[in-house]
Amino acid sequence: VKQNGSDDFEVYDSAMNDQTIERINMENDLRYALENDLLEIYYQPKYNSFTNELIGSEALLRWNHSNYGFISPDTFIKLAEETGIIIHLEEWVLRKVCRQIKEWKLASCYRGRVSINISHIHFYQGDIVSAITSTLMEFDIEPTCLEIEITETTMMNNEFETNKTLQKLRSLGIEVSMDDFGTGYSSLGYLHKLSIDRLKIDKSFIHEMQKNEAIVATIISMANTLNLKVIAEGVETNDQIQVLNKLGCHEIQGYYYSKPIQPEIYKQNFLLALAQ
Ligand code: C2E
Ligand code: CA
Ligand code: CA
Ligand code: CA
Repeated sequence: VKQNGSDDFEVYDSAMNDQTIERINMENDLRYALENDLLEIYYQPKYNSFTNELIGSEALLRWNHSNYGFISPDTFIKLAEETGIIIHLEEWVLRKVCRQIKEWKLASCYRGRVSINISHIHFYQGDIVSAITSTLMEFDIEPTCLEIEITETTMMNNEFETNKTLQKLRSLGIEVSMDDFGTGYSSLGYLHKLSIDRLKIDKSFIHEMQKNEAIVATIISMANTLNLKVIAEGVETNDQIQVLNKLGCHEIQGYYYSKPIQPEIYKQNFLLALAQ
């Protein structure tokens, strides 16, 4: 306890309290939103730019807060990880996505895979294999409809543990992609030990394509050497697509095709457009 200058103490202390209160409010609001189905999932299409085929989409969480409007997932995912809510949150995402896939299947317009993001907390402290298997069974969906995205940094945690889980998922037919690739400095020697299907080149490399063309080329040839697929995220321009095609990367995700959108719009503009 600070003994001197009582005024300083007051100011310091109440500032801390404000922050703590705001955080607790936010945490409560997030729990409330989760329990009352106020969160949403947007879908962002992924394309094979070479054949122009839709290959699937990524499911991204959205929180439209009643007072503050849309809160960035980067902000509330971090909060969810710090408070442990993340496991419930991602189990909710899993169910919501599977229910959605089922609905699209019943409407005969489903295509490709939907990928979901798995946090390191969920990956190491939860039981994602049984959560995923039981949810797939509940909605009667094939594992080939699903993909999981795990960041490079998460995977670098513990090679043995990581591989055990990844192998179980892949043996079911679920694909595994290493998200934000290039930001965690994995070596080739390390990568070849991991049981994954795909590298997802981080959008920071794509945004400054001119500067990073050599790095992107290296990532793609590394992926080829290791027999991995490769997707580029954050692709916004035709110029970027041209360079990626030249380098042999055909899987593309980004604003060039579409921003993440509500499921009804994804169905209307992407799934049904193809079914016709
Ligand atoms: P991420 O997994 O790297 O997702 C890609 C982010 O890039 C998304 O941001 C997406 O909207 C954005 N993006 C896509 N295309 C473009 C583009 O062409 N240009 C630009 N500038 N950005 C593009 P978003 O939706 O704000 O999500 C941010 C992060 O929040 C995600 O990054 C992911 O790490 C996290 N996140 C979202 N949903 C979940 C979830 O269910 N679980 C976990 N663990 N994380 C999630
Ligand atoms: Ca992702
Ligand atoms: Ca990413
Ligand atoms: Ca990211």
